[in-house]
Amino acid sequence: MKERFFSGAQPTGSLHIGNYFGAIKNWVQLQDKYECIFGIVDYHAITVSYDPKEMKNRILDCAISYLASGIDPEKSTLMLQSLVPEHTELAWILNTVTPLAWLERMPTFKEKASQHSQNINAGLLDYPALMAADIFLYKSVVVPVGEDQLPHLELTREIARKFNKTFGYTFPEPKEIVGKGARILGLDGVNKMSKSLNNCIYLNDSPEVIWKKLSTAVTDTNRKRRRDPGNPEICNLFSMHKLVSKKEEIEMIKKGCQTAEIGCLDCKKILAENMSRKLEPIREKQNMLWENLQDVEDIIREGSNRARIIARQTLREVKKKIGLDL
Ligand code: ATP
Ligand code: MG
Repeated sequence: MKERFFSGAQPTGSLHIGNYFGAIKNWVQLQDKYECIFGIVDYHAITVSYDPKEMKNRILDCAISYLASGIDPEKSTLMLQSLVPEHTELAWILNTVTPLAWLERMPTFKEKASQHSQNINAGLLDYPALMAADIFLYKSVVVPVGEDQLPHLELTREIARKFNKTFGYTFPEPKEIVGKGARILGLDGVNKMSKSLNNCIYLNDSPEVIWKKLSTAVTDTNRKRRRDPGNPEICNLFSMHKLVSKKEEIEMIKKGCQTAEIGCLDCKKILAENMSRKLEPIREKQNMLWENLQDVEDIIREGSNRARIIARQTLREVKKKIGLDL
């Protein structure tokens, strides 16, 4: 039997290259090795303000991006969190073993609270307890995530330890899997690329849009003039080259930047071309899937039913352990 894991993304907007290179690309590669459950975590997404009329489309957009990136519903389970109520039920139970101070020290909470100062709700603080429930319901042994999620995963392990110690061994402590694109900065060159920050290259951006965005993206800010040598190691665009360009091209750009033989605009042109080429098959598949929405909805519903069978079993075991066993 294969080991299992759960990982997911929030339907807070269209998925971007940070989501792809940080998480989804790894998911695709792990499908043969593990039994994978990929969630669209909509209960997480409602912890920030949103328009209810848009949510269904965002959920479909997220599912379509998973499928277009190579998630295969024959191999893996694609599910919607809110269709499996065991997620919120287990989250409540985990709340009772999670000290408030553990939640308050999370950098992501502090970040989101400052971004959403008008809406610092309890759900925002409690996010990691729900995330731990997502992971535990499927007894995940690993979780492929981007670097920003590492504190959450550490907290998840602490919650597992505390629960196991109090009620007897129940949950494995999941290890992280982080890939080459674990932290992609946004086009501003400062913040993490985030759906909610409008600093993204989206998986469905056309070559024209990609060029428009890259042409104004922030590079090595110390390189003021074309003839100044640059430092590729601190340039966000060079880190993107590492994800989409060929080895020889990366070397050429590195040297060219360090010696000022090539300027930022030349570098951006090559990047825009390579990025567009890399994303083209995903964008095409997305367009095709938008024409077949019924199939996409069926995949989500069927996957959620499948996930629920496992989730129900785990929750039954948990309730028994904590004495809620009538
Ligand atoms: P939001 O701004 O709403 O939090 P997000 O862009 O951070 O959205 P999530 O749905 O929170 O995306 O994260 C989904 C997955 O993508 C997680 O594994 C996360 O670590 C990863 N991820 C998100 N942003 C990046 C990034 N800039 N670089 C690498 N990985 C990322
Ligand atoms: Mg996020």
